[in-house]
Amino acid sequence: MVAISVNKNAHPFDKTRLDALLNRRFFYAPAFEIYGGVAGLYDYGPPGSALQANIIAEWRRHFIIEEHMLELDTTIMTPAPVFETSGHVARFADWMVKDTKTGDVLRADHLVKAVLEARLAGDKEARGLASQPVKEDDKKKKKKVKTTAVKLEDRVVAEYENILAQLDNYSGPELGQICRQYSITNPDTGNEVSEPQQFNLMFASSIGPTGQHPGYLRPETAQGHFLNFSRLLEFNNGRIPFASAHIGKSFRNEISPRAGLLRVREFTMAEIEHYVDPENKSHERFGEVRDVMLALLARTTQASGRTEVSHMSVGDAVAKSVVANETLGYFLARVQQFLLRIGIDPARLRFRQHMANEMAHYATDCWDAEIHNSTGWTECVGCADRAAYDLSVHSAKTGHSLVARQALKVPIVSEKLVPEFNKKNFGKTFGRDSSAIQQTVSGFSEEGLAKLHGELAQGSTIISANGKEFTLTSDHLSIERKTIKQSIREFTPNVIEPSFGLGRILYILLEHSFWCREQDVERGVLSLPPIIAPTKVLIVPLSAREEFDPLVREVSLKLRKAGVYSRVDDSNTSIGKRYARNDELGTPFGLTLDFASVQKRTMTLRERDTTGQLIGDIDGVISVVTDLVQGTIAWADACKTLPAYDGVQAVD
Ligand code: AMP
Repeated sequence: MVAISVNKNAHPFDKTRLDALLNRRFFYAPAFEIYGGVAGLYDYGPPGSALQANIIAEWRRHFIIEEHMLELDTTIMTPAPVFETSGHVARFADWMVKDTKTGDVLRADHLVKAVLEARLAGDKEARGLASQPVKEDDKKKKKKVKTTAVKLEDRVVAEYENILAQLDNYSGPELGQICRQYSITNPDTGNEVSEPQQFNLMFASSIGPTGQHPGYLRPETAQGHFLNFSRLLEFNNGRIPFASAHIGKSFRNEISPRAGLLRVREFTMAEIEHYVDPENKSHERFGEVRDVMLALLARTTQASGRTEVSHMSVGDAVAKSVVANETLGYFLARVQQFLLRIGIDPARLRFRQHMANEMAHYATDCWDAEIHNSTGWTECVGCADRAAYDLSVHSAKTGHSLVARQALKVPIVSEKLVPEFNKKNFGKTFGRDSSAIQQTVSGFSEEGLAKLHGELAQGSTIISANGKEFTLTSDHLSIERKTIKQSIREFTPNVIEPSFGLGRILYILLEHSFWCREQDVERGVLSLPPIIAPTKVLIVPLSAREEFDPLVREVSLKLRKAGVYSRVDDSNTSIGKRYARNDELGTPFGLTLDFASVQKRTMTLRERDTTGQLIGDIDGVISVVTDLVQGTIAWADACKTLPAYDGVQAVD
């Protein structure tokens, strides 16, 4: 037998089966489970941890190594002033509503979404359009809003669709208005809900024994990059553009985390901050991605209540100003390449542009990589052009200059009004206030200096500094027009940020990889690509008899030396069962050692998805499987190198 046909769609995707598999095989499980668990906190078990580690390794290779990024590892505990300055204390919040009778808390936008989607599903059911009636059982498990088959007026359907298409664009008061207008109540109780209120998502803490220094667990790694900007710039020999990268835990006190790994309170983020000259956002490697095709859902499409994507090359998207600039476009393409490489289904990936209200006030453009899964479309990577906001606010607050300098090839010669201070007279008249007054005047714009010049010509002018007013005359200063030669340009870099939530990607990848064999629905398979599969090779000795031990040890050692992570399964069950158990873990290759192996030093190689098997001598098979795991050859190439195994291995 070489291979069976692989129809991954023979059975419809079954989330209940996948969840059971992930729990049974300990990919991840609720943290503190034996204490009753805490919503939104999960522990990863051996296959989940290995999968995450492999995704991170690939992320580091794809971004940090490939793009020479500067890696950081900054602290989680952060003093409050940092987040006051960044705007998180005032604005890092979601809108929540309370059940007016029970006090239960719900996230306002999620409530609107769940209720309107349920009404639309009920309308479809009533019109006989529902593709598959949802089983009552499933409805309960998913804690979804109950669907009732009620036909809606066409006008109402259009209004609901329009609201859903731009849900992220609504402010709190607007969400409250929608709840009132469409009689949206708490689906669990039927009670009315309160007006939306803001809830800050950061976990507050305090630093030190006296509790005098308030702090927060960081909700993103980004501030750690910005605060180290001048050191990073120096490390990069003062050159711009460059990028910093950081993989680490972030914390968000989500209002009602119910969606497994998709919405949790502690998660691993991988963030890149790419610093560019605001006057030149081109990217030197843009040519390499120009032809990459993206599925784009632009802001204008959503604003008109539609959600269909346009397929466009990154080159076209930037040329037509659909995407703001080359660097942002470059990262959209690189993000897509990464997601596809680790096994995300390209047909279920799109980039959605933020609507005007949804985008942070300082951002100039923002696109989320959204991946479709059993709960709908989920943002997995946010890609934003944050302009100069972060560096500017931290610099203004701390007085630490966070700028880049560029030597100008051709100096800029310009005429400027400049204040010339008579230091002696200044000291005599204003004493200790002299330098504050001079600083104030030096900060005047060209226009301000021109006005000052006029006032001095009239006799005197009044300047406020140190909370006082001072009268200055031409004895203290004059305003002169001078020719200035500027050979260094100073600017605050703009920041382009791709921000990944690794848990979301990991979970959706498991959904995209999961299927059941046509002839056996019980046999779940995870078709994870070899580069990220938790275990690469399963070694299966025919039995646990001692005569197999030296061979098992030899094959394990040789694989280890080749850098291939393998595990041995010598349990007392049939080979078929052992393979099936490892198909569930996504192990892509199996090596079987039987009596012929002992006598003839041959070994069979099995591929997970097709269950096809090849045979060869031990060293030959190890060499092929190493190439397969490293991705230098595909299974089709292996089939050309090694003969097919027909299930019978003659023993001479
Ligand atoms: P944001 O800073 O909100 O754009 O989030 C950046 C990324 O972090 C998102 O694209 C998600 O992948 C991830 N993320 C945000 N919030 C959560 C959460 N509560 N649980 C899991 N991942 C999250």
